[in-house]
Amino acid sequence: MEAVLIKNFAQHIGKEVTVQGWLYNKRSSGKILFLIVRDGSGLVQGVLVKQEIGEDLFALGKQLTQESSVRLTGIVKEEPRSVGGYEMQITGLEVICIAEEYPITHKEHGVDFLADRRHLWIRAPRQMAILRIRSEIEHALRQFFYERDFVLADAPIMTPAACEGTTTLFELDYHGEKAYLSQSGQLYNEATAMALGRIYCFGPTFRAEKSKTRRHLMEFWMIEAEMAYLDMNDNMQLQEEMITYVIQRVVDRCARELKILDRDVEKLKAIKLPFPRISYTEAVEILKQAGEEFVWGDDFGAPHETIISSHFNAPVFVHRYPTEIKAFYMKPDPEDPRVVLGADLLAPEGYGEIIGGGQRIDDLALLQARIAEHKLPEEAFAWYLDLRRYGSVPHSGFGLGLERTVAWLCGLEHIRETIPFPRMLHKMYP
Ligand code: ATP
Ligand code: MG
Ligand code: MG
Ligand code: MG
Repeated sequence: MEAVLIKNFAQHIGKEVTVQGWLYNKRSSGKILFLIVRDGSGLVQGVLVKQEIGEDLFALGKQLTQESSVRLTGIVKEEPRSVGGYEMQITGLEVICIAEEYPITHKEHGVDFLADRRHLWIRAPRQMAILRIRSEIEHALRQFFYERDFVLADAPIMTPAACEGTTTLFELDYHGEKAYLSQSGQLYNEATAMALGRIYCFGPTFRAEKSKTRRHLMEFWMIEAEMAYLDMNDNMQLQEEMITYVIQRVVDRCARELKILDRDVEKLKAIKLPFPRISYTEAVEILKQAGEEFVWGDDFGAPHETIISSHFNAPVFVHRYPTEIKAFYMKPDPEDPRVVLGADLLAPEGYGEIIGGGQRIDDLALLQARIAEHKLPEEAFAWYLDLRRYGSVPHSGFGLGLERTVAWLCGLEHIRETIPFPRMLHKMYP
């Protein structure tokens, strides 16, 4: 009999089905044995009655240890008191492998203990819920861009030059020459956008972050969109449409997972378009009013972002940052060149920056001047400057950090749970 998924049990009520999975837990009360099994899609309680199933199978069931792999056959019943809302009246049991004593029990464990066993920790219902939501978010993002006629154009992972700054680059040996792992696909995205109009890339990004925070990984996934003929305001509008699209999908399709995580879904449902937009200068005012000693021109740290976003119940765009603290390619505001036409999107509930984006410099001479100001070697950017030589147009883009988005939508304390195998400062096992 072909196996079915536990999450689809509603379609199988009263029928005999087979489930293949792993033993999560078991309880016994003399002549009845309860096997709680997970199959990756959910948990179900199988009920073995000694009299019905016979001595041998009953004894086999009793031997099962946590994480033993099993194939269960039985009749599906609705059972609201049981985990997942269903029960299986077991008619058949096949044991694939009896597991050795499992190191992760159903008791509380410290986070270091769990992190060292991440390859097993991901089997916990909470971790599976997070990874399923992550998957849903990735699908939703791709779908969003697909529906809007964007072309998926992957940017390279190995790059010859630094995109922004060298302090957070991972270096590698490229046949005797220095190369770096990509920190952002943006410059390449600008080139593909000039070819294809509207594009995005979605891939891993590498940053040798030097400090330990709850928000920074060394390897994370970023979806980066780049649009020819788009200005800063339309760029922000696209981002807010994307975020609400993703929230809608997660709320609609991950109700079970959100419940496992105890996420306050109302906070997500309350998020509506348009998102508030404030300037950097207005954000600085908010900080000063909150009693912070903050100097105009500095970049916000995580505590500042939390104070700013606490004034809003939705994600908030902070635009027009000081030119000094932003990348060389950001377009200065024609009305006030001390600031750039860039915007960060700060998530609510203290989740901080989830998107960085903005309009790019489209003028060749200005871009050359900025490269010189930043003391970057112009030769390395020869190809990039070509984009301003051959049909330059106003263009904008942004990068959304996937793991930050997962942390926010799942309501997680720490980014380490948002990716199957996190790469953190001084820690990359397993
Ligand atoms: P932060 O100020 O938090 O360090 P950033 O300004 O350096 O972020 P960007 O270069 O703007 O980040 O990258 C775009 C997005 O990528 C960020 O808004 C964030 O969502 C995500 N991101 C950046 N660095 C990391 C990291 N080390 N780990 C996980 N996500 C990150
Ligand atoms: Mg950073
Ligand atoms: Mg930032
Ligand atoms: Mg940023």
